[in-house]
Amino acid sequence: MTAHTLDELRVLNTYAALPAPFYTRLSPQPLNAPRLLHANPEAAALIGLDRGALGTPEFLAVFSGAQPLPGGDTLAAVYSGHQFGIWAGQLGDGRAHLLGEVAGPQGRWELQLKGSGMTPYSRMGDGRAVLRSSVREYLASEAMHGLGIPTTRALALVVSDDPVMRETVETAAIVTRMSPSFVRFGSFEHWSARRQPDMLRTLADYVIDHDYPECRMPPAGEPADDKAPYVALLREVTRRTAELMADWQAVGFCHGVMNTDNMSILGLTLDYGPYGFMDGFRLDHVCNHSDSEGRYSWNRQPSVALWNLYRLGGSLHMLVQDVDALRAVLDEFEGIFTRAFHERARAKLGLAAWRPDDEPLLDDLLRLMHANHADFTLSWRRLSDAVRGERQAFEDLFIDRPAAGAWLDRLLARQAGDGRPPAEVAQAMDAVNPLYVLRNHLAEEAIQAAKRGDAGEIDTLLTLLRAPCQARPGYEKYAALPPDWASSIEVSCSS
Ligand code: AMP
Ligand code: MG
Repeated sequence: MTAHTLDELRVLNTYAALPAPFYTRLSPQPLNAPRLLHANPEAAALIGLDRGALGTPEFLAVFSGAQPLPGGDTLAAVYSGHQFGIWAGQLGDGRAHLLGEVAGPQGRWELQLKGSGMTPYSRMGDGRAVLRSSVREYLASEAMHGLGIPTTRALALVVSDDPVMRETVETAAIVTRMSPSFVRFGSFEHWSARRQPDMLRTLADYVIDHDYPECRMPPAGEPADDKAPYVALLREVTRRTAELMADWQAVGFCHGVMNTDNMSILGLTLDYGPYGFMDGFRLDHVCNHSDSEGRYSWNRQPSVALWNLYRLGGSLHMLVQDVDALRAVLDEFEGIFTRAFHERARAKLGLAAWRPDDEPLLDDLLRLMHANHADFTLSWRRLSDAVRGERQAFEDLFIDRPAAGAWLDRLLARQAGDGRPPAEVAQAMDAVNPLYVLRNHLAEEAIQAAKRGDAGEIDTLLTLLRAPCQARPGYEKYAALPPDWASSIEVSCSS
């Protein structure tokens, strides 16, 4: 059943049913003269809202912050976190408002405005988000989803002429995000740092009941134990986070700000800021110009994720009181990540099964791409051309073509050992190596058009990025190497 109006949605408020210290109830500060720049029918379908509801005055009023979601309790949540490895203390939704939770045909989704004004957790911030960063978040959420990577979703992008001061004066926007939960690792750290085990337990029980009910089941043959669900929770978050890191690494995605307050308890990609899909590959690529130490470089993402999981495990220790049990769970990370990454690499390389001696083949490709600063996405995508007998397009990506050619020989010899027909192998590779990714310069062009009130580029990108492996005639420029000006784009924490 689909709803034609927002009033027809079934709204729950499970987060608002938590004790008062978890959040502050308050209204957003609406944008002045808001305009709906874009709405996402795919996300709307998840909550059972039909297309006809997307352009209505009611829709604009709710998602510009002027009216509450009918039946929803609007609030900003508190959390804490480690930022760039340093304990930052209390943070929280400084510019986001949770509108409520919708029970849709495809599960339960919390709806959250981002850029909707100041809250008690705004610290020095103005509570706003600029158009530029809002377009980037809107596009990236859907691009990740198109790649099959767990992520929060984006429902609507509302803009206004309200000025916002950043390095220059920009204009304000609000993105409506959707997620089954916006709880972060930092939500747990908040209560353990304050030495409030009762609140920590309330949060952990909420997350388990809401998102991880299977964690209540004792493992087969073991007696029920009141601490086991919290260990099981850490195990499942560890598994999902390790898988997520394999996903990110496999598509050359850099998050940019992997602080513990940006780590989803559901293992979703969360809080798109200065992220980047790599163009030219560097193992130690840093996408965030504010990250001068390179803490969150591409090759460090998996180990940072584990570091962040240690902070979560440290918080759960207050409930579990068993270091060995928690450490045993965290020790599973490396194996899960490595297996998951090898599985993705296996498919990308067109191999029937991963063998331990494939590791040098993969490492040497990455080393070669790094040394030649070869385009990440096209280096993978053009492997299938080589399998079809057209080697030049791949070799052209490398300054050292003989080295690229020699590596290709090794891959083709390895594939030949599988005995599968090359055409079939090439087709399977094209199904996992995307052609279209949200390169910085593509996002930038969509932003420039959006500033003129034109959402056409957003629309085009969403169409391509929803099926990123499927080549579409006429859209070659979206799959091409970036133009020279792309290297001068700087993305920073300013948003
Ligand atoms: P981020 O690194 O963007 O995830 O943000 C870290 C913290 O700063 C979170 O608590 C945000 O809510 C807060 N924050 C970021 N930008 C602003 C802003 N313009 N106004 C208020 N709070 C902000
Ligand atoms: Mg954040």
